[in-house]
Amino acid sequence: MSKNTHTKIFGKGEVIFREGEKGNCAYLIDHGRVEIRIGRGSESTPIAVLGIGDFFGEMAILDNATRSATAVALEPCELVEVSKNQINERVEDADPIVRFLISILINRLRDSLRVSEELTTSGVLSVTKVGHSVSKVVKLSDLKKNKEVVEKIKLEKALKDALDEDEFLMHYQPILDFKNGGVAGFEALMRWDSPERGMVRPDIFMGIAEETSLIVPLGQWLVKQVIRDFAKIKKQTKYKKPLFMSINIAAKQFNDKNLFRVLNRSCEQYGIHPKEIKLEITERVLLSGGFVFDWIKKARQMGYSVALDDFGTGFSSLSYLANLEVNNIKIDKTFVEKIIEDPKTRSIVRAIVDMSKSLDLVIIAEGVETQKEWNMLRDFGCTYMQGYLYSKPLALADLVALLTGQKKRRAA
Ligand code: C2E
Ligand code: CA
Ligand code: CA
Repeated sequence: MSKNTHTKIFGKGEVIFREGEKGNCAYLIDHGRVEIRIGRGSESTPIAVLGIGDFFGEMAILDNATRSATAVALEPCELVEVSKNQINERVEDADPIVRFLISILINRLRDSLRVSEELTTSGVLSVTKVGHSVSKVVKLSDLKKNKEVVEKIKLEKALKDALDEDEFLMHYQPILDFKNGGVAGFEALMRWDSPERGMVRPDIFMGIAEETSLIVPLGQWLVKQVIRDFAKIKKQTKYKKPLFMSINIAAKQFNDKNLFRVLNRSCEQYGIHPKEIKLEITERVLLSGGFVFDWIKKARQMGYSVALDDFGTGFSSLSYLANLEVNNIKIDKTFVEKIIEDPKTRSIVRAIVDMSKSLDLVIIAEGVETQKEWNMLRDFGCTYMQGYLYSKPLALADLVALLTGQKKRRAA
């Protein structure tokens, strides 16, 4: 009987579902008690009594198999029905490793249910069933089937070791002033030089570093390294004009209470003023919540610049710009690469630049690869450019060589 679309009422002794049936929903007990039984008819044995707040019936949904037990209302019960779609959507969105662990647990549970059913019906446990139960969980071929998961687990492990083994290094990409074509600053971009995998791209390992929270110690290591290198660059190139260094900050790092301490201490140690450091955050992290706005405010109060990275790609509303204390925006390279060929993209970029200028924001155009793009972005009024037209990200020694004229400039 139905109370509303999601709550179902079952009378005392009523069967909620039977072993062997196909499952299309799970239940949360809102009121009453439910008995779970395995085995059929008079042979069946109770294995659990569930009460308010307990969840049951999810197994058949998770592995798309039949019900492994029978559920009976011990007294009048109110149950909230959770549909197959509600569960599956969440499972599909979950991390592949979580999905893999769920499948292991389900297999293990189904096997132990089979074993206890055999024990209760025949009183004897066959060796084959025990063997089957164990092998299903640990068999290597099972693991191999899920290549994506295995790769990710290996990569996570290797990443954790990489920090201890000193396999991370920083590259620096020059950022040029459109007005005079001179170098105005740099963006620090992380590289992983793995002995097994070679040079691994950051978009491959950064996501995992963030998921596993390795980004927190990695981010602190990076800050110290980059500020030390920045001081070296300034000293070795004897640059007269002011320079800045941009550091990417990932979403998980907003919760790192020590990050500002590490930043401030490194600046102090190497004689760098916070105003020479730009902290780059992506537009997408603004969705994480109000604390990001406070974080930006705090950074600005300490003197750091804050740049909104990948502008135009992650967050469709512009209203937040009025309340946000960022002072730089970076136009994403997906816009820049289409600016010559596609009139609509060109109009969007022009609008972004006009709006940013009226908000007094410094505008950095990213991914500039051709002289035509450079000319157009300069004419629109962008402040800085970053791109292969001038230089790819470089190791410290190569960067110093480029800046001191030992290497020929590609463009200006
Ligand atoms: P991002 O922050 O948007 O960095 C700019 C990316 O554009 C860099 O890729 C850079 O090498 C690339 N790029 C610059 N100019 C050009 C160009 O003219 N053409 C093309 N095709 N690409 C250009 P990279 O170094 O592979 O980094 C990719 C992403 O990984 C970064 O995107 C950033 O999101 C992340 N990342 C890199 N280093 C760090 C880091 O130290 N911390 C954090 N949190 N993320 C990082
Ligand atoms: Ca960036
Ligand atoms: Ca970017």
